[in-house]
Amino acid sequence: MRFLPIFLDLKAGPIVLVGEGELVRAKLRLLISADAQVRWYATDGNHDVSGFDAESAASVERASGDPLKDDLKNVIAVLCAGAGDLGIAMASHARAVGLPVNVMDDLQHSTFIFPAIVDRGDVVVAVGTGGASPVVARRVRERIEAALPARIGDLATFIGRFRKVFAERIDEMPLRRRFWERVVDGPIGASVLAGRTGDAEKALNAIDDPEEFAGKASPGFVTLVGAGPGDPDLLTVKALRALQDADVVFYDDLVSAEILDRARRDAARVSVGRRIGKPGIGQDAINTLMIEAARVGQRAVRLKGGDPFVFGRGGEEIAALREASVAYAVIPGITAGMGAAAESEIPLTFRHQALRITLLTAHKARDAEAVDWSALTDTRMTVVVYMGISAAATIREGLLTAGRSPQTPVGVFARATRPDAKSVVGTLNELPALAAQVESGPAILVIGDVVMHSAPWRDAFLTDIVNNVRMAAE
Ligand code: SAH
Repeated sequence: MRFLPIFLDLKAGPIVLVGEGELVRAKLRLLISADAQVRWYATDGNHDVSGFDAESAASVERASGDPLKDDLKNVIAVLCAGAGDLGIAMASHARAVGLPVNVMDDLQHSTFIFPAIVDRGDVVVAVGTGGASPVVARRVRERIEAALPARIGDLATFIGRFRKVFAERIDEMPLRRRFWERVVDGPIGASVLAGRTGDAEKALNAIDDPEEFAGKASPGFVTLVGAGPGDPDLLTVKALRALQDADVVFYDDLVSAEILDRARRDAARVSVGRRIGKPGIGQDAINTLMIEAARVGQRAVRLKGGDPFVFGRGGEEIAALREASVAYAVIPGITAGMGAAAESEIPLTFRHQALRITLLTAHKARDAEAVDWSALTDTRMTVVVYMGISAAATIREGLLTAGRSPQTPVGVFARATRPDAKSVVGTLNELPALAAQVESGPAILVIGDVVMHSAPWRDAFLTDIVNNVRMAAE
């Protein structure tokens, strides 16, 4: 982020506008509709504002003389549009007295830029692209416009009117937040959004004990949330909601920073993950942290890579919560195998060809030796291996010894759904070499005929075939 969105108080002082022509009039229109106080230096002396209503036009201070001589006292920002070289000089003038300045279409001389704006009264959304693409900003704005209820501004105004009253009635900050969340999410908020502010006001005033309404007595809660394989857009709607609602997030090492970013801004974030070579705090300590958080009334999220119940120790965690009588819920996530499959177009089942899927873990060679490979020889079974990189050689041996063909297609999918995803495909015979090619993990191994349908397979081998045919033809 290069440009931080902030909101200027238009009541604090005038904005100085410098320039001429249609460009400056467009800015004038924006400023007038925002009720700004405007001091306008028309560089061509033409202060004509026909087309604006009389009252708005009257509110504009028409300044003459050299804007560079304006001492800019009390001015809150300077704007130049269609001002040519004077705009550049004005930018230095503004900067010399420490004022934010925008020279239209001139990033180099501007210290701020205009966002695309969604204006719903007290609710204002600013969308920026760092000046890169106004068209993209406008598209984002359209989506936000469509997603926001029409009266969202009324809801903010309504709450603003009562904030102080309830701040006096509810001592603790977190409880106050929860109070307003319940108001916004419940029937009172719905009444305002439906245009029935009177009803909403009555209902709000009828709340006898705001702390109880906020759920003071209600105990804490732990939600095990599947974070998916890495792409934050693969979070479920429920997962997102839980993250937005959390007081504290206990997250694993596999959880990407982009996903953690989706948690409520002021939620505490606690890393409890193991890392290769770093032991982490241990399962018992994780359980204790979750239980303690719930016991002090917090809404805790236990955020785990992929799905909590696929090689995620989710089962142990809820057992510990049950034993401690802590309420919990589980929100599934997209497990890494499915993320990799979708990304690389591997249908994990396929009519007549793959009738079963086995999810397997083989962390080290020692784990892999413990696997009963004879149960995995069915050629119509897709085997998806988690934590399998370090055991690739043992997996190969196990499957070959049990009788699976060395020509069985396999794929290694590292960092699936992340920006640095990498996949390699080949045969079971080559598995250890393939695993060595993906650099750092995490990675999933997929073993079975369905790998032949995958995009990496098509890229690697079908182009070869096409080339061979072409070469043979030539
Ligand atoms: N609960 C997780 C699995 C945790 S075990 C899930 O459902 O996905 C950790 C293993 O998951 C890693 O060793 C790797 O095999 C796999 N994994 C996790 N994220 C991955 C990703 N983005 N790409 C490939 N494999 C991944």
